[in-house]
Amino acid sequence: MEKREERYSGKAKSVYTTDDPNLLVLYFRNDTSAFDGKRIEQLDRKGMVNNKFNAFIMQKLEAAGIPTHFVKLLSDQESLVKSLKMIPVECVVRNIAAGSICRCLGVEEGKDLNPPTFEFFLKNDALGDPMINESHIEYFGWATPEQVAAMKELTFKVNDLLKQLFLDGNMLLVDCKLEFGLDQNGKLVLGDEFTPDGCRLWDKDTREKLDKDRFRQNLGNVVESYEIVGRRLGVDL
Ligand code: 5GP
Repeated sequence: MEKREERYSGKAKSVYTTDDPNLLVLYFRNDTSAFDGKRIEQLDRKGMVNNKFNAFIMQKLEAAGIPTHFVKLLSDQESLVKSLKMIPVECVVRNIAAGSICRCLGVEEGKDLNPPTFEFFLKNDALGDPMINESHIEYFGWATPEQVAAMKELTFKVNDLLKQLFLDGNMLLVDCKLEFGLDQNGKLVLGDEFTPDGCRLWDKDTREKLDKDRFRQNLGNVVESYEIVGRRLGVDL
């Protein structure tokens, strides 16, 4: 497999084509962004930690029957993935209230959400990733009703699996954001990444934040906290 040109550069990752049209290289950079890319900083070791963390989680999910785009780790900051046609929506599932649900709906942070809530957001930085519903997704052709149903079902399944995985490491999965795409056969597959950049994780006993809220809220020790999460799960960092 030969890495070729950069196809796309996101806020924390770059995507490269390869000599195989169905395979891409994800390069996890040290960039850390918040507030729709309005604040960006470089954090040492973050690319490596997130790349290895993502590989660990994607492999756990694949082993549990969730189809993912992950193929294999290539280096400290690179992974090989299947090329997907991404669906431009974010699927957010919440077990405990934090972030936008508190801000937008006046819910108290820390409130248990059982059964978990589910929200769709449009991936559009210029519009600030607005919340959307199934009617918008179908009307504007971002996904079919079947794909919408499948994204919801897979998101709840991933949430159930990972809630337990993090609980085994004495952590609470507060919420997470997943993105899906279609592979070359039109099959719906989990894409993007699963790292502490795109989920909230709290220590179960102290409720200390161990995720990207440390960066958003200037709490310090961002990568150190990601490493604590990784070590508790047994990720080889
Ligand atoms: P909220 O809606 O509370 O801001 O975010 C809900 C969850 O989705 C959080 O775990 C947050 O990190 C994640 N999330 C929402 N939007 C984005 C995004 O654009 N990028 C990443 N990496 N995560 C996001």
